[in-house]
Formats: sequence, C-alpha cells, structure tokens
Amino acid sequence: MKSEAQQFFAPQAWMQGAWAYDVLLGVGADGCWSEVQTHATVQQQAGATRLGGPVLPGVVNAHSHAFQRAITGLTERRSSGAGASDDFWSWRDRMYSAANRITPDQLEAIASQLYAELLAGGYTQVCEFHYLHNGLDGAPYANAAEMSLALVRAAQRTGMGLTLLPTLYMRSGFTANGLREDQRRFVSTPESIGRVIEAVQAQTQGDTRINVGVAIHSLRAVSPQALMELAAYAKQGGLPVHIHIAEQTQEVDDCLAQTGQRPIEWLLNHVEVDARWNLVHATHTTPHELAGVQARGASIVICPATEANLGDGVFDLPGYAAVRGTWSIGSDSHVTRRWSEELRLLEYSQRLTQRKRNVAAQTLGPLSSAAALLDAAMAGGHNATGLALGGIALGQRADFCVLDTLAPSLLGVPADHMLDALVFSSPDARFAAVYVAGQPVQMLSDPGFVTAMHALWGR
Ligand code: ZN
Repeated sequence: MKSEAQQFFAPQAWMQGAWAYDVLLGVGADGCWSEVQTHATVQQQAGATRLGGPVLPGVVNAHSHAFQRAITGLTERRSSGAGASDDFWSWRDRMYSAANRITPDQLEAIASQLYAELLAGGYTQVCEFHYLHNGLDGAPYANAAEMSLALVRAAQRTGMGLTLLPTLYMRSGFTANGLREDQRRFVSTPESIGRVIEAVQAQTQGDTRINVGVAIHSLRAVSPQALMELAAYAKQGGLPVHIHIAEQTQEVDDCLAQTGQRPIEWLLNHVEVDARWNLVHATHTTPHELAGVQARGASIVICPATEANLGDGVFDLPGYAAVRGTWSIGSDSHVTRRWSEELRLLEYSQRLTQRKRNVAAQTLGPLSSAAALLDAAMAGGHNATGLALGGIALGQRADFCVLDTLAPSLLGVPADHMLDALVFSSPDARFAAVYVAGQPVQMLSDPGFVTAMHALWGR
C-alpha cells in the first residue's frame, strides 16, 4: 500500500513513555513515521493537518479468535443438570457450537464488525490465532485458505492491520490420536498450514498492513514431532510463532502427567524458543519458567478480560516484571474490545489479589500505572507481529489514535493525566479518529453482522 507523504500536528503525543507537546509528525509514502519533532513552532505547524486531541500510539491486539465475537454475551448463563458446574471446558463446548456453524461469508461479516470495534478501541493490528480451517462437515475447502481469506477481506474492508496465524491443531489431548468430531473444522497438518500461508501471501502482496505467522494450538493439541516441524518452517521464514500455554490448571496437570514437566518448562527444554515466540496466557507459571521465557527473549500475551471471563486465573505480573519480561495484550474471545479496558482489568486483578494499589507502576518503574501498563503492552507488539509497531518514533508504522477531548472522563483533566484518565476513569474516553499506516479508518458497524447473528442464533 503506497500513499502520499503527509504531515500532522498534535498538541500532545505519547512518545517513549511520556507526553510530548506541540509535536510535528511526518508520515512517509511507506506509511511509517519519517519525522517526529517536539516543541514545533507556529511557523513549523503551518500546512500540517491538525489533530484535535491527545495522540496515542495504536496498540497491537496480539491474540484474537474473530469468530468468538459471535458468542459474546451468549455464554453467561449457568449450565443445568445434576452436578453441573461452569468452567473453561463447559464454555469451550458452547464456543464449539459457534465454531461448527459459521460459514466463510458469516466469518467475514463477524470479523468486519469486530475489526471496526477493535479499531475504535485503539487497536491497529490484530493477530488472528485462526484454527477454523475446514468446511462445516469437516471436509477441506477446495482452497485451504477459504476461511483465512474471509479474515483477510474483513481486514482490508476495515483498514485493520492483520497478522494471520494459521493454527496447527491435530489431536484432542496429550494421549489422543486425533481430534473429536466437534473439532472437525480444526484438522490441519504442518503442510496444510504452509498452504494457507502461501495462499494468503499470494493474495496480499504489496499490502503492508497484512502479514503472516504460525500458531500451534497448544502442547496438548500437537505431537512434539509436528510442533518441531512447524517451528522449523517458521524459523526458516522468520515468522512469529504463537502458542496457547498454561492457561488452565488441568492443562498443566495433564502435561505433568504425560511428560513429567510443566508446559512452559517442557517448551523451553525441548524447543528452540526465541524472540519470535509468543506464549499466550502463561497464567500458571513458576518464577523459574518466567525467568526462562525472558532469557530466550520470548514474549507473553496476556488476555486479562478473557482470562477473567473464563475463570482462568491471574497472571503473575509482579513476578514477570521482576525479570523484565516482555509482554503484549490480546482480546482473545472479545468480551471487551478496547485496550484501555484490558489494561484496567490487568491492574485491578493485581490490586484485588495483593490488596495494594498501583501494582504495575510499583513493579515496572514508571510513576503512572497507565503509563507502565501501556508501554509494557506496546513492548511486545513487535514480537507478536514481526512488524515495526513500536509507537510514535522514526521508522515505526504510523498507527495512532486521537482522543476525544469532549469525553466526560477527560473533562477538566490536566494534560499530563490524560492517559491515566483514559485507563482508570470509566466509561472510557472514545477515540475521535484512528489511523493505520498514516491512513484514517472509518470504524463503521458491518451491516452483515446482525444478519449473520440472526442466522446463527435466531432473533
Ligand atoms: Zn485463544
């Protein structure tokens, strides 16, 4: 995607962990920052497009299953029957009922709605951990990338950046030989993942907002041999690798029973994990495992709202901060679609369990909790996507959001506290405008979404 060079003027912009004022921002024809100048004079501002409020960097949403947007609000009733209880696994059964009904057209409509909402929530790149590969009956589509390309079209329609992660999913548990009937759409091999990647790359050549990586569903879902094969493929292509890991205590117990090691322990001991690796959730960890992740330069993807919604547990933020670990955030099942809300939940879960305040700031260093959280979440964006998405700095992609200064939660707030008020005063301020690679996006609801929801669930 090529465009004209442009120049913007921001009254204040979030740069390198602090507000800078009177900022002149140049975007090159490649969609990346070519000029960043603070304290610009009135003369220098002349001719630049004036942005009407504080400017924040676009944030990478490092973990998404777009189709799960179709079940938000629909899994919040208790299971019935004798001895029924609700946990991750009972939620998963309900989630599968959606996974097994969604057509490519419906997926495109659902993802288009979702991506518009995520853009409005301040995300400008989404990592799609995508395992819905096959047709409704489980037979492969003629084009292995049929469902993946529905996500690509949704990204292109909305202007959202997309890192598509076709996901390897081969067995239903550590000791299983294959998948269950209700997992028929997930059936894949390292070869089929490679075919999806090639098809998506062929379809998106020249679009700098779309790239690919690979995902491994989890240790329980692939054999060690297949994991190594896909990891080698990703290494050869320099692709990011994502894996669900240590989200559930049952998964940790199963891994221990099967291998004698905990999931992250096993991964670090058996696989050449490096800075391209992203460990999604990592909820149940030991200090030794967290130190090991940091030592390899790998990153953790925390999904605070989904982990809360599913009753997973609380991420050890102080433990990971103590070893200076890199992380990013993801909205995963999309029960929330704004990064400000994810960061608030992450901090509040820490405060509630530790009975302390400003935990992220105390453990990460900055004065402000919101600043500590945003800058830490931004730091993992490159690991997650392999792209230059490091905020407002020369050479990084020009993804940014302009705060609506008329939002009630920002009224009368001193300029230096705008980010604190965005994250910790709810309902959060909206973004008046969002730009991806220097281009404004529309953030409009998708008309096909309601049609798809009615077709899936009735009225
Ligand atoms: Zn997930």
